[in-house]
Amino acid sequence: MLPTRMERANGAATTRTLAGRAQARTRVLVVEDEGDIAGLIRHTLERGGDVAVDVAMSGDEALKVATADPPDLIILDLNLPVMGGLEVCRLLRSRPGTAGVPIIMLTARTSEGDRVTGLDAGADDYVTKPFSLRELSARVRAVLRRGRGDGAAPAPAVYRGRHLVADFDAVSIAVDGEPVRLTRREFELLKYLVENRSRVLSRDRLLERVWGYDRLIETRSVDVHVGRLRGKLGEAGKQIETVVGLGYRFVE
Ligand code: CA
Repeated sequence: MLPTRMERANGAATTRTLAGRAQARTRVLVVEDEGDIAGLIRHTLERGGDVAVDVAMSGDEALKVATADPPDLIILDLNLPVMGGLEVCRLLRSRPGTAGVPIIMLTARTSEGDRVTGLDAGADDYVTKPFSLRELSARVRAVLRRGRGDGAAPAPAVYRGRHLVADFDAVSIAVDGEPVRLTRREFELLKYLVENRSRVLSRDRLLERVWGYDRLIETRSVDVHVGRLRGKLGEAGKQIETVVGLGYRFVE
C-alpha cells in the first residue's frame, strides 16, 4: 500500500506506529486479554485495508491508550482481569476525550441483565461470545456508520417519514402537515432518537445525551418525557418503540 500524504509528511515520527496509527484509516482499539482472540479480531478488521487496529491487554492500558489518542471505535471485552470491561466503559464515558467514542462490548454472558448493564454503562452495541468474526465486522461497520451520522459528517438535518417531517436545523416539527409544538427537552429527545434510529437507546444513555448527565434526575423522567412526546406526535409517536427491559428505539 502506498503511504498516505500524512504518513509521508510525518516521516519517521509515524514509522514506529505506522501499522496501528495510520491517520487515513479508521482506528479501532481492541481491549482483550486473550491474545488469540485479539489477534483474530485484528486480522479480520485489518484485512480490508481501511482499518488499523491497536490492542490493549488490560483495562488500565486501554484507558491510557484511548485517553492519549482517542480511537474511532473501541471493542471492549467485558471479562478482563483487575479492572473489568464495565468499569472501563464507565470511565471512558465519564471522560470528555473519550465520552463520544463508540464502544462495542464483547461478553460471554447472554442474559438480558448483562446486556442492559452493558448498554447502561454506555456501550453502543454488544456481541456475545462465541461470536462469528463476520458478525463482529458487520457490527463494527454499522456502529461506525452511525458514528459518522452524529459525528464529523452530520446526517441531513431533515427527517421525512410517512407522518413526521422534522427539520432539526429549523426547529420545525410537523405531523401530517400540522406543526407540532415541542418543549426544548422533547425536541432534543426526538432529535437524538431520530439521529440514532433503529438503535436501542437505554434510559441512562438518553439521560446522559439529552439531559446531560445528572444523577439527580431519575431515569423514570425519561419515560415521562417519551410518553408526552409520543402523545404530541400522534401517528408518528408509534415510531418510538419501547424495548422492554432495554430502553427506546426510533423505527422507520
Ligand atoms: Ca477476556
